[in-house]
Amino acid sequence: MFDKLLVANRGEIAVRVMQACEELGIETVAIYSDADRNAGHVEFADEAYNVGPAPASESYLDQEAILETADRAGADAIHPGYGFLAENAAFAARVEDAKGITWVGPPSEAMEALGDKTTARQVMQAADVPVVPGTSDPVDSAAEVRELGDEFGYPVAIKAAGGGGGRGMKIVRSADEAEDALESAKREGEAYFDDATVYVEKYLESPKHVEVQILADEHDTVLHLGERDCSLQRRHQKVIEEAPSPALDGALREAIGEAARRGVREAGYTNAGTVEFLVEDSEFYFMEVNTRIQVEHTVTEEVTGIDIVREQLRIAAGEELPDAQADVDINGHAIEFRINAENPAAEFAPTPGELETYVPPGGLGVRVDDAVTEGDEIAGDYDSMIAKLIVRAPTRERCLERSRRALGHFDISGPETIVPFHRLMLDDATFRAGEHTTDYLDSEVGADE
Ligand code: ADP
Repeated sequence: MFDKLLVANRGEIAVRVMQACEELGIETVAIYSDADRNAGHVEFADEAYNVGPAPASESYLDQEAILETADRAGADAIHPGYGFLAENAAFAARVEDAKGITWVGPPSEAMEALGDKTTARQVMQAADVPVVPGTSDPVDSAAEVRELGDEFGYPVAIKAAGGGGGRGMKIVRSADEAEDALESAKREGEAYFDDATVYVEKYLESPKHVEVQILADEHDTVLHLGERDCSLQRRHQKVIEEAPSPALDGALREAIGEAARRGVREAGYTNAGTVEFLVEDSEFYFMEVNTRIQVEHTVTEEVTGIDIVREQLRIAAGEELPDAQADVDINGHAIEFRINAENPAAEFAPTPGELETYVPPGGLGVRVDDAVTEGDEIAGDYDSMIAKLIVRAPTRERCLERSRRALGHFDISGPETIVPFHRLMLDDATFRAGEHTTDYLDSEVGADE
């Protein structure tokens, strides 16, 4: 096992990784920007090093500074968390090449193949995994978009090959929208992901977002830990996630889990990863792979009892996964509520500022992953998510009741947060019934009002 690990991240996920390290007897190294001198992850670590000014591009994304820090601190492993450099195959390759340092993540070649949505689709098709109808080759002209629109039927989505979180995705509802949509998808791809490559797939109007958690070791064991349902989204960003999905029956659950296993095996994948699908009318379609730990990994941990970050570390150290697929048991239900510093009454605009009150709930079945305390300044430079509330209970019904109790006792003030929005969702009949699809918040609830 590693002696000392550098976490190339901040916030709750940095703390989450350090917790797993502590349990394995690994010393931890934090990096921080000027805005994060007193941040929770810095407090939690055994050692901490400043890597630059507040903007992420000059600190948490500064590959050179991070590699130098790892060297200076004598770290023998780097965990990237999520966001920042977590899906940067070039950075992973640099870590792989650095002497004496292990990358806690998949091989950079697998990241490269799966990080690009067009090549990922090709890998999945080779493994006999159904993909969203569309092209698996880049698309260049509006004429091609119109041809595909005719072939698959409108609406179609033009998506950036390197995209994610709905960025770089443009919906085309009729032929005359093709030209403008193509230009703006390319522009966004270039701006956010440094890649103007785009492709076209059928846009499903009311799908469920269902994703499968994978763990794969270097000894040929590939396990799936069941699925998560992340259909409650606002503008294609996940807001509430749960496990298991209320939308799957046993046969579909089995089929989707096995498809995910086949797909990552084909890619020569190791470590933790997530295979995302859209589900409509009992059919499932591959959408993309996230080659990293995800925000919502927690709900899978709660229903399987498996510490996913611990397994990431063990896999990276060359150890074997403990279980066979038949040993993975799903028990009960878990729901995660993202606690974002955003104002639900003002189009969910970020609300940086001082955290005046912060008393998270506790008690049976309630877990809070965070890295903040009262008096902290919520910086506007980063992600607006300041904590995650994860609630577990034996059934979904009881999980909803327990969530009401937990959210009712989440005492937080200073910046506006989306806690009041979550409380409203618990009264929403469609959400309670588990019938919400990815378009639900934007089209039905009028989340902007
Ligand atoms: P990520 O899953 O990394 O956020 P995407 O940008 O591919 O990446 O997808 C974000 C969300 O956009 C999905 O969860 C889904 O709600 C929606 N979406 C993506 N592709 C499609 C599609 N072809 N049809 C319908 N919705 C889609």
